[in-house]
Amino acid sequence: MQVCTETTLFMQKAIYYVSRFIAARGVLEMTDCRLNFQVSNLDSSFGMRSVSIDLATVDDVRIEGGDLHPRVIICSGKEYEFVLPKAQELYDQLKKQCFSSVSSGPADNESSSIICGCGHSVSERYNFCPWCGSKFLKT
Ligand SMILES: [Zn+2]
Repeated sequence: MQVCTETTLFMQKAIYYVSRFIAARGVLEMTDCRLNFQVSNLDSSFGMRSVSIDLATVDDVRIEGGDLHPRVIICSGKEYEFVLPKAQELYDQLKKQCFSSVSSGPADNESSSIICGCGHSVSERYNFCPWCGSKFLKT
């Protein structure tokens, strides 16, 4: 059984825009798995709901200038808009969490390897086998 131990990466008071005219105040918490918005008690008494977004389902993240603070728009099926002073910081964190596997360059272990006569798997970049010293014939 896998236990999800979530680490809080970002937490700040924010405003969540349900629509252009309806907004809720609360606390935005980002973990390594989810982005949670906890609506304040006052606004939840007006029927505002807390929001929880699975970071694995995020398609796109944008940041736009706002009147007071920048807006971070998160696309995950629908669009979620959050306004907060540290919007840039949240945006950077989201980009890193959601798209780091895409933006990072090809890893070493993705390069193809060949099987030497001695049975070891050796990266194609080598000219000689590190185990038996055989020279590889490159095409
Ligand atoms: Zn070898």
